[in-house]
Amino acid sequence: MRNVVKVVSVLLTLCLLLGINLPAVHADEHGKTPKGDLPKYQVDVGTKGMVATAHPEATKIGADVLRHGGNAVDAAIAIQFALNVSEPMMSGIGGGGFMMVYDAKKDKTTIIDSREKASAGSKPDMFLDKDGKPIPFDERVMMGDAVGVPGTLKGLETAYDKWGTVDWKKLVTPAEKLAKHGVKVNWVLADAVKDNQEKLSRSAAKNIFLPNGEPLQKGDKLVQKDLAKTLNMIEKRGSAALYHGPITKALASTVQKFGGTMTEKDLSNYDVTVDKPLMGTYRGYKLATMPPPSSGGLTVLQILKLLEGYDMKQYGPRSPEKYNLLAEAMHVAYADRGAYIGDPKFVDVPMKGMLDDDYIAKRRQLIELGKANKSIKPGDPWAYQDGENHGYVEQPNDKKTGETTHFTVADQWGNLVSYTTTIEQEFGTGIMVPGYGFMLNNEMTDFDAVPGGANQVKAGKRPMSSMSPTIVFDKDGNPFMTVGSPGGKTIITSVAQTIINVIDYGMAPKQAIEEQRIYSPDYPDIRWEQGVPENVRGQLEQLGYKFDKVPRDIGNVQMIRIYPNFYLGAADSTRQGRAQGIDHVKGARHDHHNRHNDK
Ligand code: GLU
Repeated sequence: MRNVVKVVSVLLTLCLLLGINLPAVHADEHGKTPKGDLPKYQVDVGTKGMVATAHPEATKIGADVLRHGGNAVDAAIAIQFALNVSEPMMSGIGGGGFMMVYDAKKDKTTIIDSREKASAGSKPDMFLDKDGKPIPFDERVMMGDAVGVPGTLKGLETAYDKWGTVDWKKLVTPAEKLAKHGVKVNWVLADAVKDNQEKLSRSAAKNIFLPNGEPLQKGDKLVQKDLAKTLNMIEKRGSAALYHGPITKALASTVQKFGGTMTEKDLSNYDVTVDKPLMGTYRGYKLATMPPPSSGGLTVLQILKLLEGYDMKQYGPRSPEKYNLLAEAMHVAYADRGAYIGDPKFVDVPMKGMLDDDYIAKRRQLIELGKANKSIKPGDPWAYQDGENHGYVEQPNDKKTGETTHFTVADQWGNLVSYTTTIEQEFGTGIMVPGYGFMLNNEMTDFDAVPGGANQVKAGKRPMSSMSPTIVFDKDGNPFMTVGSPGGKTIITSVAQTIINVIDYGMAPKQAIEEQRIYSPDYPDIRWEQGVPENVRGQLEQLGYKFDKVPRDIGNVQMIRIYPNFYLGAADSTRQGRAQGIDHVKGARHDHHNRHNDK
């Protein structure tokens, strides 16, 4: 089996290098993978750069920046603006995100954390009804109080000040043009509009996404004049346009109209943090991943460290043993995730304890191959480090997974960006700021609804995320791959599984992304993608697991593999993603120095 995997992976790599693209294997029973849009451009190689995003227009705009000599951060900024226009339901200036940057010259990885914050008026019990019961999730997501103070634009500007080299205007204009002249509605956007009509019909969003009361259809043109105007203001004034100007007022009063407490002061006080990544290892590879307030990095690393105790290679990628071990490792890691993680500016998080080798070894004892452990509870990582345990309060299990977006860039100097960016649920709260054309997030619903634990709501606090932008380095410390995904809590498993597919199974990037994923935060339910073999599911059900009746796509991974002389990028067929390599840079200088400003 091992040899078969090896041969297949070598053949696949050859196919990829020769530009032969693989068929999508993600088509699901809802017909979500559209026959007409089959991903022709989801794998590419490039000697001078690479862009992989979930939308072809965003990829094109990012690739243009690289082609004209911009660096990976310049391209990432242009891509985020372009995604705000072309994938308006997934991310934008009304949301937040985590931009991970590998600066090749300094050999240093940094995170710009633009996570949304709870406004000053936020109260721990704001998601409870008058009887003290949690307001149902479907209602919470539409509340004014669900809107966190957005950070994305501040994040982009901070990254620009640190690393940007291209004229700021040139990074915003392509998105402005796209908004003004229109972008073709793809199946992803059409589906999202169809699924969110109620939410959208409550605000100015209805005029854009439900023209004449009808949802936009695939093939329609989405024109966003107000958003174009906003982008023009950003082009001229940078983040001040949003945090210290007319948009500030409009944003705060819109949130208040929907019952939220956000004020102009909340906006003008907002700032990002510039952080170090959480570092960990897997089979000798080094991972730079996302620390709290995301649960992503810790949980990805816990899953991987638990599995390090097994020779995963000996079990095929679609064997019952692999899925059994994966599901058990997820159950163990997700139990801790729910119990101990919150915004580290407000609570102690037992990061050291959670990744302590002895603690992991103890937790691994809960896993027995060929069994499903029905009673996995959070462990006690605090026993492995000092600090105050903030405890955990049982939460309603009503949260639906969000869908945002992940993209990645590499440039001619070896700089990398791995960036997951969000407005939480599709279209966030569904609230659009009237006259300015952008959607407001519902990120505050990532807080616990029932107060008392590490992740309870507090003014100024950031809700716990699952976003896990990651950069993997090889055994010598050289950049090896970037990876990340949207999908709320499922993000963690998509990232962990992609890493396992590459490191344990030697899969090429596209294959690693397309390999069927599962998601199982606790016993016994398993969500699965089409392709997990029926007989394998049957064997696992014998152990007590319950597979969802129908398969569903999980996540949307974009990744870049870094080879000594080229990049190989891949985008996921769960959306209309596109990877584009760069081989020629206009007016390229012949040195290999990083063009960072070294600010
Ligand atoms: N709000 C989610 C989080 O921060 C992101 C939603 C998603 O990526 O799908 O984890």
